Amino acid sequence: MNITKLVRENIKSLKPYSSARDEFKEFTSEMVFLDANENPFDNGVNRYPDPQQITVKDTLSKLKGVSVPQILLGNGSDEVLDLIFRAFCEPKQDNIITLPPTYGMYKVLANINNIEEREVLLTENFEPSVEQILKVADTRSKILFLCSPNNPTGNSFSTNTVEELLTKFKGLVVIDEAYIDFSVEKSWLSKLDEFPNLIVAQTLSKAYGMAGIRLGICYASSEIIAILNKIKPPYNINELTQKKALKKLLNKNKVQHEIQKIIEQRTKLIEKLGSISFIEKIYPTDANFVLIKVDNAIKRYSQLIDKGIVIRNRTTQPLCENTLRLTVGTKSENKKLIEALKDI
Ligand SMILES: *Cc1c(COP(=O)(O)O)cnc(C)c1O
Repeated sequence: MNITKLVRENIKSLKPYSSARDEFKEFTSEMVFLDANENPFDNGVNRYPDPQQITVKDTLSKLKGVSVPQILLGNGSDEVLDLIFRAFCEPKQDNIITLPPTYGMYKVLANINNIEEREVLLTENFEPSVEQILKVADTRSKILFLCSPNNPTGNSFSTNTVEELLTKFKGLVVIDEAYIDFSVEKSWLSKLDEFPNLIVAQTLSKAYGMAGIRLGICYASSEIIAILNKIKPPYNINELTQKKALKKLLNKNKVQHEIQKIIEQRTKLIEKLGSISFIEKIYPTDANFVLIKVDNAIKRYSQLIDKGIVIRNRTTQPLCENTLRLTVGTKSENKKLIEALKDI
């Protein structure tokens, strides 16, 4: 597959902004920096952050077994996904494919970027329909978004289905792995070298417990990453985020411990949900949330609000009539949820 052919013409010829930190990199701390019009008085954040976030990427590289030139960081996955749109999708000409019910940002980003969004519903058991996707795709279909484990359904897509799409779809395949750390399935990261059109998006917002610092991660071929690097804002990851992220990434045991706790709580929550009379179905989940079908989602949602518990009503999503999405909380939060459900 020829990745360059997928890039927008204006991006191909773009000369990126060159920051002070880009132009002079061989610095040592005892040098005098008078190149970026910064305030010289040290307060921890008076200097611009590293535009290439090398320390964070080095750490991720070792943790994930992916080389540094195959990593790009964004201000949340939202920025990562937006950069992919802007590099590859020509407004009013190209299109992207999403598979509802799924994460709402793909559609919003398509709309913001004035890109046609083509929707191919998941099957009844929430798997992508390869045949339908390939039928809807044309030569201007630049990106296929696969969210696995999928939000809001919670399931991971079958490996064979994803592989078939990676082989047969003639554009980029973005696999959004926001929930991969809660999953029994393996990440697609190990397949980056096998599929040149594969982009894997991950985030520190869920399993790593850092939604507040906004750090999204994009893994792809070094060719794709180089294109995205050309268009990213020079200082898109601030100094505080880089410091916090690094500390967390180096504390692998704590992260693993929290994930284990959440998975344990997920099992317990599912067990307890089974005894609530108006819950008609509990969908299998590979994420840190559970999708349930109830008798009347609007009614149950507002009853829970009245009891001070906020969940997500997904009833307007296709194939999700009368469903509610419940995030797995702490032991005591889950207990409150179950008690409230019993009360109503
Ligand atoms: C929560 C979530 C994200 C995370 O987005 P950030 O911008 O990194 O916080 C990405 N994709 C999906 C499917 C999600 O549910």
